[in-house]
Amino acid sequence: MYKPNYEARVWYYEKIVETTIKNLIKNGFDAFYVSTKDEALKKILDMVPIEAKVGVGGSLTLREMGLIEILTKRGNSVAETWQPNLSKEVELEMRRKHLTSDVFISSTNAITMDGKLVNIDGTGNRVAAMIFGPKKVIIVASVNKIVKDVDEGIERVRNVAAPMNAKRYNKKTPCGITGLCDEKNCELPDRICKIITIIERRPTNTDTTIILVGEALGY
Ligand code: SF4
Repeated sequence: MYKPNYEARVWYYEKIVETTIKNLIKNGFDAFYVSTKDEALKKILDMVPIEAKVGVGGSLTLREMGLIEILTKRGNSVAETWQPNLSKEVELEMRRKHLTSDVFISSTNAITMDGKLVNIDGTGNRVAAMIFGPKKVIIVASVNKIVKDVDEGIERVRNVAAPMNAKRYNKKTPCGITGLCDEKNCELPDRICKIITIIERRPTNTDTTIILVGEALGY
């Protein structure tokens, strides 16, 4: 019987992570790798003071980690927009709070091996807060979001993350129906892709830490 040997796979992912982290650091970010989401959680809790006002971006990764419940329980004030039954006004207020939070925590839609962050947003508060406003930004991303370059990052967002998001919000976009992007035939009001950001280097006034996690998380 064939005995699987995972050495080559481990080696491959180690190389990819090593290159990505080296380039993120070269591009001015603080960046490191942890193997599990629990380790990532511990690192985040160590970085966020209990008195800090925290904004949490629309991210399945962070919800899968149970981060919001833990932050809230230990006393952090958390601006979170995925609470059920939020009125439109309160939800908008939460989104504005992201921009003035002490710490903003988010995932990213893709992270390139040459050290850039690629995101597509509909409202824009998430990508705006990643760039300017919060004193500290923490980005948590599974290694399954690593791509070769910006083109591949946009491709990933449109054909992997967006279809699942469109489905989650029951949007009748081409990607929400077929699982594939058809950008030319995707219009408002359902279109969820309205803003693309490529953060090529750490923004001047934003202390940004990127945590790569060796477990599959998020879309
Ligand atoms: S442009 Fe439209 S079809 Fe393409 S990923 Fe975005 S929402 Fe989906």
